[in-house]
Amino acid sequence: MDTLKIAVLPGDGIGPEVMAVALKILGRMAAKNGLALETAEADVGGIAIDRHGKALPEASLETCSAADAILFGSVGGPKWESLPPKEQPERASLLPLRKHFSLFANIRPGLLYPQLVDASPLKSERIPEGIDMVCIRELTGGIYFGQPKETTTLPDGDVQALDTMVYRKSEIERITEVGIRTARARGKRLCSVDKANVLETSVLWRKTVTDYVKANAPEIELTHMYVDNAAMQLARDPNQFDVLLTENMFGDILSDEMAVICGSLGMLSSASLGLTHNRFDLPYGLYEPAGGTAPDIAGKGLANPCAQILSAAMMLRFSFGRNDLADQIEKAVRDTVTAGTRTGDIAFGGKSVGTEEMGEAILQRLG
Ligand code: NAD
Repeated sequence: MDTLKIAVLPGDGIGPEVMAVALKILGRMAAKNGLALETAEADVGGIAIDRHGKALPEASLETCSAADAILFGSVGGPKWESLPPKEQPERASLLPLRKHFSLFANIRPGLLYPQLVDASPLKSERIPEGIDMVCIRELTGGIYFGQPKETTTLPDGDVQALDTMVYRKSEIERITEVGIRTARARGKRLCSVDKANVLETSVLWRKTVTDYVKANAPEIELTHMYVDNAAMQLARDPNQFDVLLTENMFGDILSDEMAVICGSLGMLSSASLGLTHNRFDLPYGLYEPAGGTAPDIAGKGLANPCAQILSAAMMLRFSFGRNDLADQIEKAVRDTVTAGTRTGDIAFGGKSVGTEEMGEAILQRLG
């Protein structure tokens, strides 16, 4: 395999702390497996605003374009909260990155090891085996991007705001394909979430998903659920789901609900895959932890690096086709945590270790 070129965007808060650990793990995997790793670091988010005057400088975008995948930390924090909404670190960096690289498919595993069920706000008897599901969210369409989007003052003096929810069949088909591939690699069950009793876009969504799965993946068991019911079912019995497939806004809400029931944000990774392929003819993607910059613990060496490490594992799986290496990293994280080495967020008041120690323990398991 050629050199793996990775754009590294640590960002703010705990971002650089957990990124340093993830890079050590990647370095170890590369050395063990004879791979050449080329990482190029670039500023993004608040630190980029401070240094370059904007959250996503041209140079950072160029670094990303020259790479096969982006490993992203997290951005934002109290220091930049007073900026106008359009200039906020998250909105002014992540959204343009998604748009620039057409990152249309967001894949978020909802994973809670049985040993960590006490981290979930759900009663442990509801999830004795932990949680193991995946949420696939369409990321570049729907109401967040649909036009027109405007606020107007009406002739009678009232003020009206308008957002447009719009989907094309082709957009639904390509995200359904991601759902099918994810389900094939797991329990072969796909639950498509919509609001087809009310929304035109959902009627098209349901018909398109049904036709596409029937034509392309008859072996997949497809079900449909209204989004209000899905929100309830997630809190009642998350393990009834294998793979959830949904549009942008519903996915935004449901994937956050899933993150909460899975306990600590410090354990949850994500991938956003693009339309373009990299030099390995695999999806170009952006990989990041589900959580934010955790200002309450930033700079203290307390952050859980697992979400960043698991995001790096997803990158090896999807953008570099190295399922074997991803499996090894995921196993090392699982074994380390279940054996009892834990950061404060998953230690339940027991003995805990810091970010670096956690990384060292995982490195040891990798050999
Ligand atoms: P947050 O995810 O940063 O923190 C929520 C809670 O989870 C905190 O108690 C935090 O300590 C904990 N947490 C998160 N990641 C952790 C980890 N790896 N280890 C241990 N504990 C962890 O959410 P927030 O407090 O709402 O947001 C803080 C900042 O992060 C805001 O500026 C927000 O805009 C930004 N943010 C960025 C992203 C992103 O970059 N994608 C996502 C969410 C929030």
